[in-house]
Amino acid sequence: MKALVYRGPRNVKIENVPEPKIEKPTDAIVKIVATNICGSDLHMFEGRTDVEEGKVLGHENLGEVVESGPAAQLVKKGDWVCLPFNISCGCCPNCERGLTGFCTTANPGNAGAAYGYAGMGPYNGGQAEYLRVPWADFNCLKLPEDAEEKLSDYVMLSDIFPTGWHATELAGLRPGESIVIYGCGPVGLMAAHSALIKGAAKVMVVDRHPDRLRLAEEIGAIAVDDSDGKQVEKILELTSGLGAERGCECVGYQCHDPEGHEVPNQTMNDLVESVRPTAGLGVVGVFVSEDPKGADELARKGQMAFDIGKFFEKGLHMGSGQANVKAYNRYLCHLIHHDRAKPSWIVSHELGLDEAPEAYEKFDAREDGWTKVILHPQGRRKEAKHKPEARAKTPRREKELAHAH
Ligand code: NAD
Ligand code: ZN
Repeated sequence: MKALVYRGPRNVKIENVPEPKIEKPTDAIVKIVATNICGSDLHMFEGRTDVEEGKVLGHENLGEVVESGPAAQLVKKGDWVCLPFNISCGCCPNCERGLTGFCTTANPGNAGAAYGYAGMGPYNGGQAEYLRVPWADFNCLKLPEDAEEKLSDYVMLSDIFPTGWHATELAGLRPGESIVIYGCGPVGLMAAHSALIKGAAKVMVVDRHPDRLRLAEEIGAIAVDDSDGKQVEKILELTSGLGAERGCECVGYQCHDPEGHEVPNQTMNDLVESVRPTAGLGVVGVFVSEDPKGADELARKGQMAFDIGKFFEKGLHMGSGQANVKAYNRYLCHLIHHDRAKPSWIVSHELGLDEAPEAYEKFDAREDGWTKVILHPQGRRKEAKHKPEARAKTPRREKELAHAH
């Protein structure tokens, strides 16, 4: 089958690889119909992880079950399913508590496994024609009858929509509160979408890419351009000098100044400055315990100069880590099904798998208009929105939804 394979920094290729097979009785094989490129893939693409050459990438997957093992009771051939990026067993102590991002079975010696990702176990990804899904009954979210029609929404249930939601959960957001979100990439935009659905009174999103900030404004969030370095002042102004009640970090360890120089502690310290005393912070941008190509000595050891003094004085609290997708995806699926959420408004490109290497380059460069890419390994869909102008249709509906809350 055809798959996108990592061959070293900035080098991903479409290659022929063996088709996956049922290896354990609880497995299923899914024919991948839609699979996204994620900001997390870019850490690997840029050579900032120790991912091994030859790995098939892709952890944001949706498709049709073509085969299930003899011990899979619930998923059957023909089911349309969306797969959480986390692979989890369903019965270890963490999975039992809904913390499926920290499954202790799927990646022995570590907590947490994923498809096609550095350090997340021996699993190949779904930027391919087929994917092996372990513990299929637990990991497959069966989609409603409008699965194909709302494909570009449902595929966001694999990662970024639950991850954005998780950021607001970790921050402790409640209706009527204000929230500041650092990073207006797909994850930050999903955090903004989630915050608005949850009834936040004021949602402020910080970034420097006009195309991304425009998307935030389309749903009723306030765009805060940080190109002039005055983001903290702007947030304070927008919150009567107090700072926001909640804050989210949706950028991660490669955060940088608008010129592109990495400043590893920038978003974390900006967050501390931008929130009011007793605020909650949700950190879902990825930070790593070792970064040999990090910008400074601390970063290379997975550390940073964090404003712990101000953090303590303000009595802030913080949650972090991989999103437990299974804790949310069924309910977020209902929101999509009943037109209460429309995460696909951020999609800029729907492409064939062959076009993936070029798409990695464009998305990595954060080129204007490249906000989220869906790949279709079974061939581009006829009605796919690969033209930028096609996107303009969704937000109006989104605004109506936002007003309906
Ligand atoms: P992305 O790289 O497309 O978006 C990041 C955005 O942050 C960019 O638009 C960039 O301009 C902006 N940015 C960079 N430096 C900034 C700064 N100093 N201040 C404000 N904005 C800044 O990626 P994405 O897909 O949105 O993912 C964001 C992060 O979330 C990545 O680290 C990714 O690995 C992580 N992630 C985590 C989880 C999880 O489960 N915790 C899941 C998915 C993605
Ligand atoms: Zn992802």
